Parts: sequence; structure tokens; C-alpha cells
Amino acid sequence: MSDTLRIAIIGGGIGGLTLAVALGKLSQSSPNSPNVKVDLYESTPKFTTVGAGISMYTRTWRAMQLLGLDGDVAKVAVQPPDEEETEGTFYRKSDQLADGYNFYEMKMPFGAITLHRADIVSILHSNLPSICTTHFNKKLSSYSSSPKSNFTELRFTDGTTTTTDVLIGADGIHSAVRSGMFSGGEKEFAEPVWSGTIAYRYLIPAKKLEEAFPGHQGLTKQMAYLGKNKHAVCYPISQGTQANVVLFVSQPHLEGTHYEPAWVSEVEKDFVGKEFVGWEKEVQALLDCAPQRIMKWAICVVNPLPKYVEGRVGLLGDAAHAMTPHFGAGAGQAVEDAYILSRLLTHPLLSSAPSSDIHRNLEIALKIYETVRRPVAQAITKGARDAGLLYEFNLPLDVPEVGTEVQDGEDGGGMKVMLGAIAKKIYELEEWQFKGPDVDEDWVRAKRMLADHLGLDTGLGSGGEGGE
Ligand SMILES: Cc1cc2nc3c(=O)[nH]c(=O)nc-3n(C[C@H](O)[C@H](O)[C@H](O)COP(=O)(O)OP(=O)(O)OC[C@H]3O[C@@H](n4cnc5c(N)ncnc54)[C@H](O)[C@@H]3O)c2cc1C
Repeated sequence: MSDTLRIAIIGGGIGGLTLAVALGKLSQSSPNSPNVKVDLYESTPKFTTVGAGISMYTRTWRAMQLLGLDGDVAKVAVQPPDEEETEGTFYRKSDQLADGYNFYEMKMPFGAITLHRADIVSILHSNLPSICTTHFNKKLSSYSSSPKSNFTELRFTDGTTTTTDVLIGADGIHSAVRSGMFSGGEKEFAEPVWSGTIAYRYLIPAKKLEEAFPGHQGLTKQMAYLGKNKHAVCYPISQGTQANVVLFVSQPHLEGTHYEPAWVSEVEKDFVGKEFVGWEKEVQALLDCAPQRIMKWAICVVNPLPKYVEGRVGLLGDAAHAMTPHFGAGAGQAVEDAYILSRLLTHPLLSSAPSSDIHRNLEIALKIYETVRRPVAQAITKGARDAGLLYEFNLPLDVPEVGTEVQDGEDGGGMKVMLGAIAKKIYELEEWQFKGPDVDEDWVRAKRMLADHLGLDTGLGSGGEGGE
């Protein structure tokens, strides 16, 4: 390696862009950081703003603060995030013709921060540092690194090749980097699987929804409309000018199978409407206001991987842990990956350690990233799966505890008890968002491991804070 540490990022989605931004900010914040150069390879001709609403919660918000991006993000959020315990999601039973009822409100610090994905991508894009060169229309086909050479060779579909010191696959659920890492016949890790759920996504102009259903709760709150095998989510984005709608339809027995048709396609709105016949008016209004053609997404996931790192190659974001969207956490987890990884890769200890073997030190840093991030992301992936089952009345619950605060509704006592048990379980599942260890603590742990592994006495090994 020359004096410059070359980091190649494959994929310019929220994960790859956040990593590039973070590497720029952190490498320039300390004169002792390695001299970093980032190359970002994106297969499309520009950064794509495809996607609709994104929710962010406490942990992701903290990472945004630590990266100094919170000010920009707050400007495009529907409401400026507030550290006090604020409105999160309102849960409502909706799979009946009679009006449903909000049976639970999940509050947490900062509440639910709702945004348009395009706004986040554009903030990240405008924060790309000068140390980052972006290469569009560059689709990675494969890579190879040999233990003998200290670099990794990248091969692109246009026939070109290049080399890098560190390769990070932030190339989404179909990651070519993950396929390469698990090319030894481990198909269950190389290829994603279907969750059994289809999501229908679209936006409604807020004015249109207000006219069709004055006071619709999805215009001002994050709403989850629950029912058997299906549920709907609606919340405001773009500073309240649009409502983001996602309708989920599940066949739980098909979880883990391969989805053969195109993963993303368009369907007629009548087709989707048929799925929600018999649901309450508040949900019908979302379908009445839908565009004629609706985006259909097969929700696929990556099985829990046994590793995120091999040598100086790592996976980040959906490439490592594509999950169901029921926690609204996929992008947030990519941001957390980027935060921890960027701090490790820019840490002054990498170049100042007595064993000045920078290649070995980089491998140690990547392994620590995996050690810290993999259990967190995998626990959240499992929680998101359970949340999906819970929202569609398919998660086996222990004996329901009577006494949870639930409004009375037309379904009477039995339903009240069931919804009480669901409310309690929602709280348990969502606690990770605001109960530690948080992103700061994860970093302290990573930093301590780095010091321990590099054999330095910085005071970190014994639990002290010290160092960068
Ligand atoms: C219905 C739905 C709702 C969601 N809601 C939320 C939410 O509310 N909150 C939340 O946090 N998350 C949510 N998510 C999840 C979130 O969208 C993803 O987790 C997140 O966008 C992943 O970001 P990423 O950068 O890892 O991957 P991606 O966004 O997939 O980006 C990967 C990038 O890599 C590029 N690429 C791919 N292959 C190659 C290659 N071989 N070479 C070069 N470039 C390549 C792609 O073009 C793309 O730009 C939702 C997802 C769905 C489906």
C-alpha cells in the first residue's frame, strides 16, 4: 500500500453514500488519521431517488447527530426531531367494515422521524467529500483477493478492472460482493430469499387524501392498520405534502422460498383493492386515492450471515442484512454500519500502531466492525420479522395479560385482550430502538477492541475512554 489508504465502495445507496460521507468527515478530523481516498462505484447513471418514505428512530438519529448530518435531515423531516419522548407509531385494528380504533401508541425519544428517501439521498450526495471520486455506470461483476497480494482486484461488467486496499460491498440485497464472499457453494447466504410478503407502495398528495377523508390520521401521524395476514402503513413525508402508503399482504407459509416473478413490478390499483375488501373506511380511503398503477415489491431478505468480513473485504447495509421493513430499520442499520466502520477505518491507531503492518491492522479493524455490528443487525432483522408476524396476528403470543390499556371497540372483550397482548409485545419488540447499548456504546466497545488487538496501551483496554 502506498501512503494512501484506498477504499472502494460498491453501491451508492443510503449505506454506501453514508460511508463515503463519514470517511470524508472523519479522516479529515484528525491529522493522524490514515490518508484516505474513496472510490464509489455505482451501477446506475446517477444516484437513484427511487423509493418512497423512510422512517428513522432514536438510534439512527443518534448516528446522524454523530456524523453531523442531523441539521440537514431535520430540515426535510415532517417535524423537527425532539429528544423528549414523542409520538411514534399508532396501531389500529382495521380488518373489519366498522370503524377501527387506535389501540396502542408507541412513544419513544425523537418519535418517528419520517422523510422522503430522495431527500436523504440528496443530502448525502451534497455532503460527499473531496476525497471521494464517484464512478457511475460501473457495475461490479466479481472481485478477487489473494493472501499473497495486499490488494483486491475489482472487475466490472464493462470489462474494466482496478485494484483497492479495502473493498466494501454496499451493493444492496443482490450484492455481487456478497455473492463473491459466499461463492463456495453457500447458496443460502449468496442469494436472498422471499419473506412471504408483498408490499404495495405509493404516495398520495396530502390535499387529495384530506379531501377524500377529512382528518385522515395518516396525514399527521405514523399509522399502522393491522389485520389478519395483511397490514397497511401510512405516514406524512415531504414536510407533510405527501402521504406515504405501504400495503402488505403475506403468505407466511411461503417464507424462505424463492420468489420467481420480477421482484419489483406494477399492478392495477383494483388488484390491490381486492385484497382489502372488508377493511374499514380509513384504509379504503388510501386505496380510493391510490394512483392507477401501484408499485409491487416482493419483500426479500438475506439469511443471517455467518460473517460480514473476509480479509479486507466487508459487507454493509442490505448487502449484509436486508431485512423486512416492519421496524423501518433497514436504512438506519446501514447508517449504523457506516458510522462504526468509518470510525474504525479512519482511526489514527491503524497507522500509528507499533506493528506498522497496515494490512494486518485493516483486517483487524474490519473484523471488529463485524464483531460489533453483526449481532445488532441480526437481532434487529429477527425482531423485524416477528413484528411483521405480530402486526398480522400470526405471532404466537403467551397467555395475554389482561389489564393493558386498550380502548373498547366493537369486537368486545376477547379482542380487547388480544390487542392488549399485541400492544405489550410491540413495546417489547421496539425497545431496542431506545434502550441501550446505543450507537455511542457500540463505538466505545469497538474502539476498545481496536486498542486491545493492536496491542497498545491507550487506557482503552481497561475500560477507559481516551484516544480518538
Ligand atoms: C417497502 C419498504 C419500506 C422500507 N421502509 C424503510 C423505513 O421506513 N426505514 C428504513 O430505515 N428502511 C426502510 N426500508 C429499507 C431500506 O430501503 C433499505 O434497507 C436501504 O435502502 C438499504 O440501503 P443500501 O444502501 O444498503 O442498499 P440499496 O439502497 O439497495 O443501494 C444499493 C446500491 O448499490 C447499487 N448496486 C447494486 N449492485 C451493484 C453492483 N454490482 N455494482 C455497483 N453498484 C451496484 C444499486 O444501484 C444501489 O444504488 C424499506 C424497504 C422497503 C422494501
